[in-house]
Amino acid sequence: MESERFERVMAVMRREVPDRVPWSIWGHFPAVNWLDYYSWELAQRNGEEAARGHMALIRELDYKMDLLKVTPFYRFMAMQWGSKFNFKDNEEDAPTLSTTVKETKDWEKLWVLDPKKELREFVRTNEILSRDLRNTPVIYTIPSPIIQAMNGVGTPERVIEDMRKNPDALKQGMEIITETTIDFAKACVDTGIQGIFYGIGGGGRIWKDFTVPELEKWALAYDKKVLEAVDCEIKMLHICSTPEGNAQDQNLMESGWFKKYPVDIINWDAHDYTWLDKAKEIYGDTFAICGGLDRSYDSMRSGKIDQVEADVKKAIEDAGEGGGFMLGPGCTVYQDQPRASYNAVGRAVIKYGYY
Ligand SMILES: [Zn+2]
Repeated sequence: MESERFERVMAVMRREVPDRVPWSIWGHFPAVNWLDYYSWELAQRNGEEAARGHMALIRELDYKMDLLKVTPFYRFMAMQWGSKFNFKDNEEDAPTLSTTVKETKDWEKLWVLDPKKELREFVRTNEILSRDLRNTPVIYTIPSPIIQAMNGVGTPERVIEDMRKNPDALKQGMEIITETTIDFAKACVDTGIQGIFYGIGGGGRIWKDFTVPELEKWALAYDKKVLEAVDCEIKMLHICSTPEGNAQDQNLMESGWFKKYPVDIINWDAHDYTWLDKAKEIYGDTFAICGGLDRSYDSMRSGKIDQVEADVKKAIEDAGEGGGFMLGPGCTVYQDQPRASYNAVGRAVIKYGYY
């Protein structure tokens, strides 16, 4: 891709100084009030609907984001294996009705999903965005295999019990999920998009209930297989739900444990636990850093424009120096976040983000 936005983002990936700080905001598009012409449920069955929802978002904003992060319902692979979720009223949370893996023996039921068959529509979203967005780099969300196993394919309780009592059965399931994830991520990248957004830790149970050796065996080892198999320009690691674990006992974020991940840039939730300057101090020699936007009611969610602007200013002051920094939210923004908050970020970046 040849574009100003792409060059800006790539300078950050190389931990260099871009012309200005790039920014992006992501949520469950099209599950957003002001995009309600589009259906969140249909977007999980029809790749074009998902692409159209994301392109509509870009069109509706007064300021162009420097990167588009595409977010499917993160249980989309579990859906193909037969788990059921309750999509209603375009709400972003589609609660679990039933999971495919209920008993230990059910791990055997999984098969490797084909990006040309069961996952075809999700690949198609990438094809369309890669073709139609000529100037905006696109990254697609890839959920960690252990998180899929716990939240959608099975349950946290099933995985934790099998990890300790029936590890061979769980291993069989994890290998199928991992192979599926690798094949899918490669197919997405092959469409010409610029990279992946790799989500780990969703739900927070692995930080709370896994020991560090268990994390290394059941999370990191499989994550590395996926990340090392995929060749692309942008690999962003999203560390979800961190505070629960960090606040307990393991000190993962502050000890630099995440340096084990082969990625270019890290993004984590939540900043109030590890703020940007601290993260840059710990991780800045290994990764670029993405964050600084507050998705809560204190700021973006309630459309407090002055606060959004103050957040952008502070984030850039605390982490912008020397480059290697990009503005983004700690996790997906809420579907009721007003459009004015997106525009306020774009405006503030122009005001404070130039080097
Ligand atoms: Zn998250």
